[in-house]
Parts: sequence; C-alpha cells; structure tokens
Amino acid sequence: MKDISQTDIQNNIPLVTRRDFKREIKAGEVYIGGNELVVMAGPCTIEGKKQIMETAKAVRDAGAKMMRGGVFKPLTFPYGEPLGQPDTDSNEPPRDRMKILNKRDLYQVAERRLGYFKEAGEKFGLPIISEIMYADSLDMMSEYVDMFQVGYRHMFNMDLIEALSKTKKPIMIKRHYGESLRSLLGVAEHFEARGKHNFVFCERGVVAPHTHNINSRAILDIQAIPALKEYAPSVPVIIDPSHATFKRSYVAAMSRAAIAAGADGLLIEVHPDPENAWIDPLQALGFTDFKKLMKDIRAIHDAIR
Ligand code: PEP
Ligand code: MN
Repeated sequence: MKDISQTDIQNNIPLVTRRDFKREIKAGEVYIGGNELVVMAGPCTIEGKKQIMETAKAVRDAGAKMMRGGVFKPLTFPYGEPLGQPDTDSNEPPRDRMKILNKRDLYQVAERRLGYFKEAGEKFGLPIISEIMYADSLDMMSEYVDMFQVGYRHMFNMDLIEALSKTKKPIMIKRHYGESLRSLLGVAEHFEARGKHNFVFCERGVVAPHTHNINSRAILDIQAIPALKEYAPSVPVIIDPSHATFKRSYVAAMSRAAIAAGADGLLIEVHPDPENAWIDPLQALGFTDFKKLMKDIRAIHDAIR
C-alpha cells in the first residue's frame, strides 16, 4: 500500500487537499463540520414504522442531530434480505428467507420504508441519511433522504460516483476496511473533479491481524482522524464505531476516543431491542446506553473545543 506523496498532492489529489477551501456541508438544516457535534443515530435497517418512530424520538431526546437507517443493505450472503420480510409491526408471517427478490420488489418495499423514515425525521426534526446501492435508485431515494451514504463496498463504484455527482444533496463516503487513505482521497477527487464538493468521510475500521474480538475483522483507525485533517482539512470526518468494533460493549469507549481525537461526528447504530435487530444485532446500542454515550461525548466535545 502506497503512502501519500507530494507528487500525489500536486497531480492526483490537488482539489480534495486544498487548504484554502471552505466546504459547506448541509443536510436538511444541519451543518456538518462546524462547531456542532453531529451524531447520526438509528437502526442498521428499517424494520417497520413503529421501530423507526420510537428510535427517532429516543435519539432526538438524547441529542442526536441526524438519523441513520438502511433500506438497501449490502449483504455478505444472498439470503435473509430484510426487504423480503414484512414490517415487524405487521401481522404477516415471516417469508422464505432464501427467496431472491427482483429489483422492482426491492424498490417497492424500500420506498415504503423510506416513507416511514422521512416521516420520523420530519416529526422529530432529524435530517436522515441512508445508503444508496443502485445508481438508478437516486431519483426515488432523493424524494426521501437528506443525505446519501456510500457504503464501504461501493467506494469505487463509478456508476454511483457519476450519479451522486449530479445531486445537490450531501454524501458520506465510507472507507473500505482494506483501503488506504490515499485511495479514499482518490475517490473524493473523482467527486471533486466532477464538481461535487459537499461530501464527508467516514472511517469504519481497518483490517488487523487481531481485533480483541472473535467476531470482528476490523479495528477502529483513530489515527485516520488527524491524518485526514492534515491532508484534506476542509472535509469533515465522521467515525462509525458500530461497524468498526462490531461489538456493543466497545462502542461508547471508541466514540469518546473519536471525539477526543477531533472527529466532527459519529454514525451509531441504535435499536429499540438491540439483541433482536434484523442486521448487526451484536453492535447496536439500546436507548439507555445511547443516552449515556451522548452525555459523555458532549462533555468531551465541550472540553476540547
Ligand atoms: C451501514 O452503515 O449500515 C453499513 C452497512 O455500512 P458499511 O458499508 O460500513 O458496512
Ligand atoms: Mn449495520
């Protein structure tokens, strides 16, 4: 893996590394990268209207400024597609988890759940962010979300880069756990070169020979915060301690460390019943844990700014 050279800065990533550039990133009415700490909290995946409403209230009351929630989930295996299951608050029985849905059916359920998400966001004053996986879903998703997430699996997807370069909405680019900061800055430069400037970075762990956790393949790269601030001072950095640790009991400590190290915000998975979350049940926080985390990081943020 190559380090970032002076030649890179001059020839390959001149725009994203500009030092005199003021970048305005505004999701709904929330500014990211200013003095305010922006915590985006919510479930890995939207499971129904009740779940998203309840979570929106809890995270808003605890001080989150935005809400996260997935509909299009990049799954490691083809089975268990959440969009193939009925809403948790419906009376329908579970459906065959081996069934592969066509895109039209996926989009139909995704759109209905994005509708719940938008309603929750509006009711509780939280701009919403969700992952985009298919370039041709951009127009549909744009009706609902305030910000787009590019998941780690998609950071090099040129169809998404092309499509997202045309939207005015802000985007969050997640670094793949096996990719260098040089590659991440390269992806950002692809956006810059297409005139798209309102993006933020998200660090969600890097591979490591051991992670203190048998279920995990990643460890949080805290050092990415000062490094990204040095190379690309105008781009806000969001830390995702949920996917980086993959472990509930590590999330609060890593959140505190991230804020102390200068992160502009956090992306945190929160669920009303974390152990029974459809996806990522090992890392989601319940409402009480999330409230305590928010109180602690606020104190750290106040102390260092
Ligand atoms: C997520 O945020 O829900 C997600 C799937 O992210 P990642 O791309 O980091 O796995
Ligand atoms: Mn998740």
